[in-house]
Amino acid sequence: MPVRDGLFVDVDPPLLVTGRCRSCGHLHFPHRRTCPYCSSERVDESRVPGRGRLWAHTAVTAAPPGYTGDVPYGFGVVELDEGLRVIGRLTEAEPSLLRRGQPMTLVVVPLHTDDDGRTVVTYAFAPSSAEPHGLDGRRPPTGAAT
Ligand SMILES: [Zn+2]
Repeated sequence: MPVRDGLFVDVDPPLLVTGRCRSCGHLHFPHRRTCPYCSSERVDESRVPGRGRLWAHTAVTAAPPGYTGDVPYGFGVVELDEGLRVIGRLTEAEPSLLRRGQPMTLVVVPLHTDDDGRTVVTYAFAPSSAEPHGLDGRRPPTGAAT
């Protein structure tokens, strides 16, 4: 179950649920009924693939109040290909293994198990393993000529 409804769609690959304003054209996240840029209420839900580049990052080493997942964890800002900057978890917790501008991809990850034993999932950004080897679906099938 998602940590909060309406943030992402857990399909393969997952999609982020953003809002696109029909008045000013800006995207925002999370999706709201009112555009945060121009206050227009002409906002459409827009599902975008979470692909972008790392804009800023850090590591969280002390659990925030109420948080029961693992620490440390990575936290950062990814600038999506659509130009929108999204704050979220990073799958890589070691800051020295990340660098600004590197390609990142949206993933859905387990966050913790709730009181009913259900796995709560959230969105996060993972370094695109595509970078040197063309993973993420473009890798040739195993056994292909090299
Ligand atoms: Zn607007």
